[in-house]
Amino acid sequence: MAYEAVIGLECHIQLKTRTKMFCGCEVEFGRPANWNTCPVCLGLPGALPRTNITAIAYALRLGLALGCDIRHESVFARKNYFYPDMPKNYQVTQYDLPLCEHGTLPVVVEGESRTFELMRIHCEEDAGKSFHPERVGDRRISRLEFNRAGTPLLELVTEPVLRTPAECAAFLTQLRKLVRALGISDGDMEKGQLRCDANVSLRPVGQSALGVKTEIKNLNSIKGVEKGVTAEIDRQRRELESGARIVQATLLYDADHDKLAIMRTKESAHDYRYFPEPDLPVLRVTDADLDAARAALPELPWVREARFVSQYGLPPYDAAVLGDSRELADYYEACARGGDAKLASNWIMTEVLRVRNDRGWPLEKWAEQVPAPRMRAFLDKVAAKELPGPVAKQVFAWMADEAGSVDELLALHGIQVQGSAEDLRPLVLQVLDENPGPVAQYLAGKTITIGYLTGAVMKKSGGQAVPQVVQQLLAEELARRG
Ligand SMILES: [Zn+2]
Repeated sequence: MAYEAVIGLECHIQLKTRTKMFCGCEVEFGRPANWNTCPVCLGLPGALPRTNITAIAYALRLGLALGCDIRHESVFARKNYFYPDMPKNYQVTQYDLPLCEHGTLPVVVEGESRTFELMRIHCEEDAGKSFHPERVGDRRISRLEFNRAGTPLLELVTEPVLRTPAECAAFLTQLRKLVRALGISDGDMEKGQLRCDANVSLRPVGQSALGVKTEIKNLNSIKGVEKGVTAEIDRQRRELESGARIVQATLLYDADHDKLAIMRTKESAHDYRYFPEPDLPVLRVTDADLDAARAALPELPWVREARFVSQYGLPPYDAAVLGDSRELADYYEACARGGDAKLASNWIMTEVLRVRNDRGWPLEKWAEQVPAPRMRAFLDKVAAKELPGPVAKQVFAWMADEAGSVDELLALHGIQVQGSAEDLRPLVLQVLDENPGPVAQYLAGKTITIGYLTGAVMKKSGGQAVPQVVQQLLAEELARRG
């Protein structure tokens, strides 16, 4: 029997606010354990929470960007359960009256435009962290750390509308892009700023009723989501094909070993005994709040990418790469506007991103060293064919470390660009004619002699030629003779 998978995602987005959801403690990393705590986020008796309005403004921004229905009066609720790193024994979240409902996320999956429906987005607080077990003397202990307790989260829940692991990966990639563009989260999955649980079930193709679902918890990379969901679909298919039935369960996925483990099975859903949080008033959103959130919306990433295609004639692939973050898209536009837009895209996608990855530089560091006007001046020279390919690459490499215009860099390194093939080909031919021995050796397979021949051409050019150009020309001519 053929089966189809039905997948829903629950994404937790950690907001980039200065302070926590219900207290004034700062949200920051790398502080000593339990540094950023107070009676509210430690759940001490009598402490009263107060809602962080910046977190609400961020939630509204996301809700509006996704076309959600925004509730003017939403309610915080207590979700009761015991967890050692949650000292109140309840989490403040939203239940039956969430801030945002419905809405869609547009996603391109394998070249095809799709929209995925959302169920809801609500605000809540994060728990602390447990470290266990550790051994002290003859005891096994756990340590609790509350710096993260009370950090603002948005939980975004999709309808069960995803069908394949590739769709899940594309959805998360787009969501990450969006929260970054909105400036509400860094969306770094490795740092836990974007976390995802996946609900997976299988049903015979053509059947509309849903099968029994399992939930994979805490997937912490986009690849991990793709692989974890793939593994679970395969597992359920094997079970069903062997005649077994699927048991509702919570699973953990170990991305390093591509293994799923059942954390717990549940015969019935948890009863969290939700009830309205009595210490917080109803959350009221006014039209002015909505107007302010609307005004803070930047051009949305998918709108911008479509514009890159129509305005600059870029292939959709380039538009998607350059649209990965607002900073990169801004940098690209500053380099491309009024110039050769495709050339700018090629150089930024390959060379700039390579330097960024090789050196581990954030884009800001690159843009500080090579601001857009400097990059643009360089690109204009490349477009005007004033810099032959290898020379351009060399100049680009200098730009990453040195100051100065293209002409200043060439002068500093003693290169007069007579690096064009027209300038150098006569010298190359002359050197080949004068050195039959090395040429024969090269052609017999001793390709290292190209170094000697390059040196001879360099000497003839008075040191003004660009070695890479010479070497390329030599290789071409030698190939012709071979
Ligand atoms: Zn606090």
